[in-house]
Amino acid sequence: MAQDVLCEVENCVHWAEGNRCQADRIYVVTNADDLTTEQTETDCKTFRPMEH
Ligand code: SF4
Repeated sequence: MAQDVLCEVENCVHWAEGNRCQADRIYVVTNADDLTTEQTETDCKTFRPMEH
């Protein structure tokens, strides 16, 4: 189980200094049509945009 999630998505409400994710848990999904084979085929579904 991941203890620390590092993330560069600064405009997410769960993001904190030091590239830390402060969400209790995250849900990562695939965006590939079939078997995921590339890093770019995964997405964090827990992402919520910061309101400006
Ligand atoms: S919820 Fe996902 S996108 Fe948001 S800071 Fe955490 S890992 Fe990054």
